[in-house]
Amino acid sequence: MKRPGLLLLLLLFVPAAYVLGLLLRSTSTELSWEQPVRVLGTSTPVAVRAVNPHGVRDFTAILRQGGKQYIVFQRSEPAKRWAWLRRSEMPRSYQFEAGSRLAPGVTDGKAELVVEAVSNDFLARRSQLVQAVEIQTKPPSLLVDDMQVVVTQGGTGAVAFSVSGYWTEAGVRLGPHEFRSFQNPTAKDASRRITLFAVPHDLGAGEKPIVFARNPTGAQVLAPVPHQLIRKRFRSREFNLSSSFLNKVVSELDPRGTGDLLQRFRRINQEMRQANNRTLYELRSKTADRPLFQGPFLPLAKSAPQAQFCDYRKYKYQGQVIDEQVHLGFDLASTQQAEVPAGNHGQVIFAGWLGIYGNAIVLDHGLGVQSLYAHLSQIQVKVGDLVNRGQIIGRSGSSGLAGGDHLHFGVQVDGVAVNPLEWWDPAWLEKRILSRYR
Ligand SMILES: [Zn+2]
Repeated sequence: MKRPGLLLLLLLFVPAAYVLGLLLRSTSTELSWEQPVRVLGTSTPVAVRAVNPHGVRDFTAILRQGGKQYIVFQRSEPAKRWAWLRRSEMPRSYQFEAGSRLAPGVTDGKAELVVEAVSNDFLARRSQLVQAVEIQTKPPSLLVDDMQVVVTQGGTGAVAFSVSGYWTEAGVRLGPHEFRSFQNPTAKDASRRITLFAVPHDLGAGEKPIVFARNPTGAQVLAPVPHQLIRKRFRSREFNLSSSFLNKVVSELDPRGTGDLLQRFRRINQEMRQANNRTLYELRSKTADRPLFQGPFLPLAKSAPQAQFCDYRKYKYQGQVIDEQVHLGFDLASTQQAEVPAGNHGQVIFAGWLGIYGNAIVLDHGLGVQSLYAHLSQIQVKVGDLVNRGQIIGRSGSSGLAGGDHLHFGVQVDGVAVNPLEWWDPAWLEKRILSRYR
């Protein structure tokens, strides 16, 4: 009589243990937004990450507004409720579109986006993620000032436009760059905009400036800029390197470097130059949203230009070309340790050591316009200082990648180097920049 009893017990125990195991092993799903979701338009891309070692059986996205709800996305998989699962499922990304096109009853205003996931295991636990959103279906629209914008390769242009509808970002796109817009300084509201943009010296054939406006729902509108582009050929210059110059540069900029003199020089001229230019580019975020500059920029007094904007330099050593670079500023030589004036009214946003530029100062003049003073022997200002046009901010020198005492002066617009010649010219400034927003 003992044996059948034991068998019965086993027959009952094994399935019970199996179910208990399934129960204990059941998990829930961790849900998160892959990008923040705040605003939805007619059809806005949304991505949700779901982590569940047993996978997700049902995934649903619902838009809720005023007591009504609309399913905007659904995905199901065969149920594995009774399967003894290994915890091996990789995290999943659900990508779908949410907005008024998929929820015809919603109107502009507040709503909720809800995503739900059901675990693909015995307990089928339901997990939820709720996000308050704003429905905004009015697309941005643009009206570009029809006055022709005349620009020169390597120079600066300004375009005025109005933007309406729902927009959060607007500006000008040219080549690989995007230039922000600012409220027109003479306008009473933010819909009237002005963008200063650089025409890159290496602008590709067929590239044209385009005004854009967009919002976080994914809606974007583009408009052409009526313009005339004057192509410019830049100079080629040979730059002869002496051993004493190489030694000076290497011991100052790379004292613990390895390799021979030329290898060390090339690293400075290439990698360090690139890193320093990156720092200058990133200073674009530190700009005033109104013009601080007034009138044309001041050059260094009684100085002679030694190098121009966009000189294509061939670096030669013992008759061999060992490197090539583009010179993105103006080199002005005066007397030794000459007083360096601020080119215009502005604020100091960088003052210190900047690799190949040596002791350097960068001033912000607002609307993305910034000026650089490099190779200084003395810095007489600090970050945050407000300076006036003509105020002495330092003294010229030969720190960094410089052979003799001179001032390297550069201008950049939203991080992109432009030809300073234009900014010294009162007629150009009035006609091409100031008249656009006055
Ligand atoms: Zn220079």
